[in-house]
Amino acid sequence: MADGDGDWARLVKCRVCRQPAIIDLRRHNANFCVDHFLRYCDQQVAKAIDEFEMLRPGERALVAVSGGKDSLAIWDLLVRAGWEADGLYVGLGIGDYSEASAGYARRFAAERGLALVEIDLRADHGYDVPTAAAVTRRVPCSACGLSKRHLFDRAALDGGYDALVTGHNLDDEAAVLYGNTMRWQTDYLARQRPVLPAGPGFPRKVKPLVRLTERETAAYCVLRGIDYLVEECPMAAGNKHLAYKEALNEMELRSPGSKADFYFGFLARAADRFEAGARRDDLGACRSCGGPAESELCAFCRLVERAAGAEPVPVELRR
Ligand code: SF4
Ligand SMILES: [Zn+2]
Ligand SMILES: [Zn+2]
Repeated sequence: MADGDGDWARLVKCRVCRQPAIIDLRRHNANFCVDHFLRYCDQQVAKAIDEFEMLRPGERALVAVSGGKDSLAIWDLLVRAGWEADGLYVGLGIGDYSEASAGYARRFAAERGLALVEIDLRADHGYDVPTAAAVTRRVPCSACGLSKRHLFDRAALDGGYDALVTGHNLDDEAAVLYGNTMRWQTDYLARQRPVLPAGPGFPRKVKPLVRLTERETAAYCVLRGIDYLVEECPMAAGNKHLAYKEALNEMELRSPGSKADFYFGFLARAADRFEAGARRDDLGACRSCGGPAESELCAFCRLVERAAGAEPVPVELRR
C-alpha cells in the first residue's frame, strides 16, 4: 500500500508499535501496521463526529450506501463504534452497475445482520436515472443527485432517524470545494460543511468520513475484508468532479497535506463568510409529497411528472 519497492514493508516501521508498516500516510508523515491503521481510521471518524457535533449518544443514523468503498466503510466504522446505524440503498436503474451495487450493499448488510432500507426509482417512482437524464436533457448526475437528495431526506425523516450519514471523504469534499471556489458559488460554499442541521422537511446531514481520504477508505475496506464495488458509475464519465480530484491529487503529490489544509482551512477560516441565498425554512409544502418546495411542486415531484411517463432509455445510450 505504499509507493516504492518491495523492501518498503521490511524497512518502514509503524509509528506506534515499530512493527512492519503496511501503509504510509504522507500527509501525517506517518506509517502504520494493520492494527494501528484501523485504529487511526476509528479515531479519525470519532474525531470528526465529536469536533463537528455530528451525532450524540443514543441517536440513530441512516447511512446512504451505494455498494462502493466509502459508504460501506462508514457504515462499518459507525456500527463498530457502537452507533445504531441502518443502511439505505436507492436503486437508480443504471443497468448492470445498479444491479451490481445493490448486490454489494445487500451482502454487506446480510453478513452483519444489519437493516437495509431499499427504494427503487423504477419500481417505486416509475423512472430511472438514464431516462430522467434523457427527458430533462441534462447530465445524468443532475437528475440522479436531485432524486437521491429527496429520497434520502424523506427516508431519514419517515424512519425517525436523527441523522442521515453519507460517505463523502476528504477527496470528495476538497474536490467540491475546489469546484465551488473556481466559480465562486457562494450559495454552495455557505452550505459546504460536514454537518447541515435539520430544518423543516430536512434531516440533519453528516459526513463522518471527511478526515479520511479515498485511499484510506479503500485500504480500510481491504483490511477489514469488506467486499465493495470497484467499478465507477458509467454515467460519471466527463464529470467535472473527477477533473477537480485529479488536479488536487497532483497538488497533494507535490505537497502532502495540501488537500486537508485546503478543506479544513476553509472550514476554520472562511466558511462563516458565506451566506446561503434561499433560507430553507422559507420554503412551502409540495402539493404532491408534502416536502419542502419553492413552487407548487418540489423539484423531485416535477422530475417524476416528466420522467415517469417517458419511454425507458437504455443505459448504453447515455454513455
Ligand atoms: S456518477 Fe452521477 S449518475 Fe452515477 S451515481 Fe453518481 S451522481 Fe448518480
Ligand atoms: Zn503498529
Ligand atoms: Zn414533492
